[in-house]
Amino acid sequence: MAILIASGSSHFEVEDSAFGIITKMRYISTRGGCSPQNFEQVLLTGLAPDGGLFIPQTLPTLSTDEIRAMQSLSYADLAFKVVAPFVDGEIPASKLKAIIEESYAAFDHPEVAPMTKLSENEYLLELYHGPTLAFKDFALQVLGRLLDYVLVKNDQQVVILGATSGDTGSAALEGCRHSERVEIYILHPFERVSDVQRKQMTTVPGENVFNIAIEGNFDDCQRIVKAAFADQTFLPAGKSLVAVNSINWARILMQIVYYFYAALKLDAPDKRVSFSVPTGNFGDIYAGYLAKCMGLPIDRLIVATNKNDILHRFISRNNYSKSKLSKTFSPSMDILVSSNFERYLYDLFSKNAAVLSDFMENSNKEVLSVTSEQWTQMKACFDSSSVDDNTTCDVINELFTKTSVLVDPHTAVGVKSGRDCVENSSSPIVTLATAHPAKFSEAIQAAGLNKPDLPGHLKDLFNREERYTVLPNELSAVTAFIRKHS
Ligand SMILES: *Cc1c(COP(=O)(O)O)cnc(C)c1O
Repeated sequence: MAILIASGSSHFEVEDSAFGIITKMRYISTRGGCSPQNFEQVLLTGLAPDGGLFIPQTLPTLSTDEIRAMQSLSYADLAFKVVAPFVDGEIPASKLKAIIEESYAAFDHPEVAPMTKLSENEYLLELYHGPTLAFKDFALQVLGRLLDYVLVKNDQQVVILGATSGDTGSAALEGCRHSERVEIYILHPFERVSDVQRKQMTTVPGENVFNIAIEGNFDDCQRIVKAAFADQTFLPAGKSLVAVNSINWARILMQIVYYFYAALKLDAPDKRVSFSVPTGNFGDIYAGYLAKCMGLPIDRLIVATNKNDILHRFISRNNYSKSKLSKTFSPSMDILVSSNFERYLYDLFSKNAAVLSDFMENSNKEVLSVTSEQWTQMKACFDSSSVDDNTTCDVINELFTKTSVLVDPHTAVGVKSGRDCVENSSSPIVTLATAHPAKFSEAIQAAGLNKPDLPGHLKDLFNREERYTVLPNELSAVTAFIRKHS
């Protein structure tokens, strides 16, 4: 396996382990102010201490032959192959393998991530067969088990703090609640998540589980979480915060796998594949970008957005400016500022942490753009579109009427964006079906269709007792609440 090594400030050199160069996998911060960390260290934090996000210092790359050799692997075996170089021996291989196998054994489809054909060259990758019916389970089932392993090994206790626009919360609770070594606090925007999403979080039992509804929107929740990570002095001595949002590197890592899985099904590496990705915090599509950088022949990566379209405006018009948050039928994408976009910008700015820091700071104040070379480079990789609620409903209805496939509103935004960006494609386009339609029945009914049934294990969801606390949109309210309970 070849390794791309960041050399100096701006380029990569390709070196090969066959030449005997041993490079340990390390993670660095996008803001450049933090010493390289190992996998366990980045697993147990969130933001880097300098306020940046962790990214791998070196990226493993795979040759065409190495990719071809993966074609017949099961999902779990493929996941182990893709993920192992990033963990780099810090968790024994047999243990890592067992964690991955157990995580995906809990999915309700033998293929874990089955693919459905919609039309010639148009596919859906179903990422909603995990316990909480959204793609977040792919990472959080593994993350919970990884944390458990490391915390037991280190005899350590941590506090998990996360903000959710809907689906992360339940997936995180489901992935982590069994650990006796964690307390878990999940913030969601009060009355801005779907009923099913809220019920899935607030009915999770356990004395170590706390749901907090913030009187604000998702960005407010995200801001509070970021501020709490930046100053953790409110915590009792000996405890620290762990992030379960997609700023946690392990989440991004586990999402790289299904890009490989889908592309291999469609004859990669001999054929190229494009992906359309319903995008909020840019975690899922960033994983696709990494898969491409690792050598997977991905053609286009399509950033599918709803009315909250900052990334679409940036990619299509080189205009990066915050607008007002709109509430839509695809609430998991109702996000003003996508945290993980910073990870991509770091590459776009030639790994120059100072330029990146300036950009991030100025984005709070003014309309930003990048140089024409940078814009060209961005467009060489990404396309984008924005789909409003009416069109989303039309697509849900049309797909069901024509193909009997029922998609959730996020997936509908993905399918439509794929069609907007690539006409008469000669290579297949795979839309990531990020959630089960029963999670978003309001949109399904608005599309003129019958309310879909929840799968068996959630049939009695609406009869379960809810537990959550409503707090004002203030950091101090949240830190006081955590201090009181931990
Ligand atoms: C989280 C989520 C998204 C957005 O994913 P990001 O990684 O935040 O871009 C899209 N659709 C659904 C259903 C989600 O739960």
